[in-house]
Amino acid sequence: RYPIFRPLCFNPSPVRGFNHARRASSTLQNLKDASVAHHQPQSHPQRDRERRRYDHDVVPHLARQPLHPLSLVDLVKHGRPPLSAEALLASARFTLSLLPIRLAHRIQALRNLPYIVVSNPNISKIYNNYQHSLSTLLPWQGRTISNLEDEIRFTEVLAELVQTHTDTIPILARGFLECRKYISPSEVTRFLDQHLRARIGTRLVAEQHIALHFSSTPHFDPAASPTPCPEHPSYIGVIDTALRPASTIDSCGGFVADICELNYGVRPQWVVDGEPDTTFAFIPMHLEYIVTELLKNAFRATVENGMSREPVVITIAPEPPDVKPARHHQHQQQQQQQQQSHVHLAPPHEDRGVFSRDAIAPLDDNAPGVTIRIRDRGGGISSDILPHIWSYSFTTFSDSDDDVPGGSNSSSSSMFGGGSYGDALNVISAASNGSSSIAGLGYGLPLSRAYAEYFGGGIGVQSLHGWGTDVYLRLKGVGKIE
Ligand code: ADP
Ligand code: MG
Repeated sequence: RYPIFRPLCFNPSPVRGFNHARRASSTLQNLKDASVAHHQPQSHPQRDRERRRYDHDVVPHLARQPLHPLSLVDLVKHGRPPLSAEALLASARFTLSLLPIRLAHRIQALRNLPYIVVSNPNISKIYNNYQHSLSTLLPWQGRTISNLEDEIRFTEVLAELVQTHTDTIPILARGFLECRKYISPSEVTRFLDQHLRARIGTRLVAEQHIALHFSSTPHFDPAASPTPCPEHPSYIGVIDTALRPASTIDSCGGFVADICELNYGVRPQWVVDGEPDTTFAFIPMHLEYIVTELLKNAFRATVENGMSREPVVITIAPEPPDVKPARHHQHQQQQQQQQQSHVHLAPPHEDRGVFSRDAIAPLDDNAPGVTIRIRDRGGGISSDILPHIWSYSFTTFSDSDDDVPGGSNSSSSSMFGGGSYGDALNVISAASNGSSSIAGLGYGLPLSRAYAEYFGGGIGVQSLHGWGTDVYLRLKGVGKIE
């Protein structure tokens, strides 16, 4: 038995897909209360012993185990929902086999940060969240999830895990800004890039099982969640095999236009052209995140440049299936070309350390993909700003100085806009509280790129300074799914 670390935040998120988690977390409270009560009688020495064992043995032992290289096959191998009981149990067991190792790797990485950084209240909050999540999974290790009752309880644990880590991005952002005296920007970027990329995979694994669970068993817990999961014939868990980017763009466009209206009193327009009826297999939550961030940037630039009458033009181009994905050997070549043409693509994956491997290989290299170009008349990005746009925390937005895009601030030191969120989850939950912001965290571009690259896509920015910006979002479809 391991000590229970109480999670610190339980903000229900209205994002599609996370509804599952929200529903699950309501039944969870009972379970948690029970487990906390169960753990209370421990004496302090005993608790300390447990804690030492956990710190010194369990985490390092798990963190020494290699990460399972995640592939999309893993996410869809249990079949199309509704899954049979056996397939659902197999999915739960598979999920359990991955998560403790993934969490332990993150805990170890946090422990490797300078002590003064981990002592920051925001960073230690994240650290405690990871410790808590691992402690909720450890009791499941060494036993098999062999019946549906176990599976339900395990899914509740997963739902809590997803919920616990919902607010990570703004908390980490604040933490690292507070610690900027003690850790170099390159160390922060390295840590965040690994951490946030790993987080994408970990959430995906947990969310996939939760979604498979809900689409296979109509009632999670009839008492707490009487609403059956809506049927999505094109969904396999969190993957939509017939995702239509034009629809995502329109719904995210409406949302971002609302934020603009709140911030600036202006509602920018957008048009979708190209082939709006294109569909491909992808994860809607990821596309929503990326599109929201890119539209926020385009709308903000358009309004601040006084060009709100000019619509942002979004062109959707399906990628023919025979185009090879941008793999590493092509990457350096591409980079050179792009540096010459001022398109800023990601640095090669090797630069990102061990977790660069933590990306999902497409099921099929020939999977059809989509390229989306977002073209704004926002005045472009000046050459002194351009090299910084992919750094976490870099922003030209400041609450007090809204109308000076590309102003004098070009270090990360004065960059925290306060109250803004770079994570789709938080954007949407903040919106539901009526307090979202158009920019300010400086995480929009780097994190969007992390999402796009997770499946072998990428993002390129082409700026025509004095005129506008083109952002090319290339997404690799997740491949053929039987
Ligand atoms: P944030 O939006 O919070 O500032 P991002 O990572 O989304 O963070 O963007 C970083 C910076 O890149 C922005 O502050 C802005 O200066 C610049 N930028 C991004 N997209 C555009 C655009 N379409 N037009 C002009 N500048 C942009
Ligand atoms: Mg942004």
